[in-house]
Amino acid sequence: MNFKVLGIVLYAVSFLYTLFLQAVSYRSKNNPIPENVRDIYDAESYKKWQDYHRETALTDLVSSVVGFVIYLLLFVFDILPAFDVGGNLYLSAACVLIFVLTLDSVMGAVFSYVYSMKIDEKYGFNRMTMKTFIADKIKGWLIQLVIMIALDWLFILLYESMGDMILLLFSCVMIAVVFAIIFLSPYFSKIFNKFTPLEDGELRDKLTALLEKNGYKVREIQVMDASKRSSRSNAYFAGLGRSKTIVLYDTLIESMTPDEITAVFAHELGHGLHKDTFKNSFIAILQMVTIVLLAWLTVRTEAIYPDFGFEGRNYGFALVLVMVIEMPVLLPLFSLIASALSRRAEYRADRHAVNEGYGRELVSGLKKLAKDNLSDLSPSPIEVALTYSHPPLSKRIEAIEREMGEKE
Ligand SMILES: [Zn+2]
Repeated sequence: MNFKVLGIVLYAVSFLYTLFLQAVSYRSKNNPIPENVRDIYDAESYKKWQDYHRETALTDLVSSVVGFVIYLLLFVFDILPAFDVGGNLYLSAACVLIFVLTLDSVMGAVFSYVYSMKIDEKYGFNRMTMKTFIADKIKGWLIQLVIMIALDWLFILLYESMGDMILLLFSCVMIAVVFAIIFLSPYFSKIFNKFTPLEDGELRDKLTALLEKNGYKVREIQVMDASKRSSRSNAYFAGLGRSKTIVLYDTLIESMTPDEITAVFAHELGHGLHKDTFKNSFIAILQMVTIVLLAWLTVRTEAIYPDFGFEGRNYGFALVLVMVIEMPVLLPLFSLIASALSRRAEYRADRHAVNEGYGRELVSGLKKLAKDNLSDLSPSPIEVALTYSHPPLSKRIEAIEREMGEKE
């Protein structure tokens, strides 16, 4: 069996899956809007919504095709072996990774430029200056480069000294990395945004009262300067243990009433009370362990490297194979499970807001969120099952109203 042929076939399969998802999503844009969310868009904004989604769908398509073709060329014409400097394992792994990650970041930046500076700009979402855009991309590229090369080098060090024992040890390392990332995420976010404690006043009093009533402690309620990038609004829960933080976008505070914000906050508090961040980390761990397993198999299978034009094993290329070819084949399965669990957690968090007496405000708050974000109100059920971390809005409102009815 030639591993290059197998690799390209697998790569084509996951590319076809991506195209399938995009086609399903594109077709669903003509679905009728459910009754209970029909008041979100008026005729004009609905037209804007459809145009917006058509343009992003087209860009999605172009971006997947370009990405597919570029990697295909890299594999078919044995371009990556040219970056294998030979001799030192660490150096030749790093050279391949630097080339691939830089190429990937440049491609990503080009399309992200189209999404934010062209499409979002045209539809009035974008508030990002060119300076912020470039700074974001450079920071993202550097962080990725440092993390990937460091993990690859650790893998080389352990595998070269311990062999197959690495499977267990490196899995533990990756689990520690997952927890460290979740724990540190409120601090990491500061690389990209400014966070300020929510200022004193009616809103802060309401939110603090809600936290106290539930006996829940967070490190801080923070406001993020999301408006420096776009007009989209949101709120989220981050961190673990002592780093737990509830973050409100400044755009959310601009567009909602204090009661609506409190309702959204009660939803986020629901996530906190149910330890959803902690529960979600199990899927991330499962994914990390799979990556370690695949990396181990890829490194052990010596015949792969000559098939792809390398003289011998290259640890950087092994990581590229895992991330570009092997993981994407399994990703739909992870996404199916992770998104189903996440949607369940969303219903549960909504229920918490209803139990706090904020059902009605949550409905109106979520409608504003949907409008601010030009959300898809009638996505295809296939798309929802395979990729949606949140249930469609009409389903959430149905559940919220049902629970409000039960309480009365
Ligand atoms: Zn949520």
